[in-house]
Amino acid sequence: MPYGKKEDKKYREELQKKILRLKKQKNAVILAHNYQRDEIQDIADITGDSLQLARAATEVNADIIEFCGVRFMAESASILNPDKKVLLPVKEAGCPLADMITPEKLRSLKAQHPDAACVCYVNSSAEVKAESDVACTSSNAIEVVRSLPNKQIIFVPDENLGRYVQLQASEKEIILWRGFCATHIRLSEEEAARAKKEHPQAKFLAHPECRPEVLKLADEVCSTAGMFKYAKASEVDEFIIGTESGMLYRLEKENPGKKFFLPSEHLICANMKLTTLGWVAYSLENEVHEIMVGEDIRVRAKKSLDKMLEITYGK
Ligand code: SF4
Repeated sequence: MPYGKKEDKKYREELQKKILRLKKQKNAVILAHNYQRDEIQDIADITGDSLQLARAATEVNADIIEFCGVRFMAESASILNPDKKVLLPVKEAGCPLADMITPEKLRSLKAQHPDAACVCYVNSSAEVKAESDVACTSSNAIEVVRSLPNKQIIFVPDENLGRYVQLQASEKEIILWRGFCATHIRLSEEEAARAKKEHPQAKFLAHPECRPEVLKLADEVCSTAGMFKYAKASEVDEFIIGTESGMLYRLEKENPGKKFFLPSEHLICANMKLTTLGWVAYSLENEVHEIMVGEDIRVRAKKSLDKMLEITYGK
């Protein structure tokens, strides 16, 4: 592993300086997902959820996008920006949820439901996006599903999010796929109930990838961007955060005086945590781990992403 594993304070500062220098030299921009390590969020130009980062990727003025997240996110950035070099710091950083549906399986599901429109969560491969009518994120899934004229909607790959969408958009018939996020699924009903008992004043915010029995206990079900908004606007001072642990860093930084608690010690996405300062510096310096999507797939996948952005932002 380049630069070794131990990133003590001095070493970390040196790496951060090096990355900022490289960024300037190479006219690069660093995008980081909310689940990234604290020190990665510190060097990012933009930190956000999948929707915010997908939108940012269409607006950045840079030659290189260093995408601190997992593969499907970097792929989306590349699909939207074919003229930019998109780098993923760690090439093995994937998403088990995205791998739970293949284009072949989706084609077969579509053949079984010819009248259904197909919505794919952005946590999917470029090939799956290319097979879908429109993409969505956890921020806009309900809005996207409701915008479609079809009554039947195939929703892949996250079953929990699809189930949640079905509850909110009862006029639709959602055809679910049995995919799940290996991180959010670990949060049990017992852990959520215990956290609520331990922090009776706290509002419990849960990500829709959590189990339905956990979502039933939530005061608010929202995406990570929704959690930032909710915490900022709320008059309450304590929150239980039902999503990946990386969220706490920015929540605490942006809301001094408010307290945030994780309901489980298992809310850590191993793939998101693969990205270290050492890998960011290495990838940027050597311009390696470029994410490229074949032109045919790219053009078709872009239609799904463009349609999502159009529904959400009207552009
Ligand atoms: Fe995939 Fe879940 Fe990790 Fe997000 S948190 S990258 S959905 S495994």
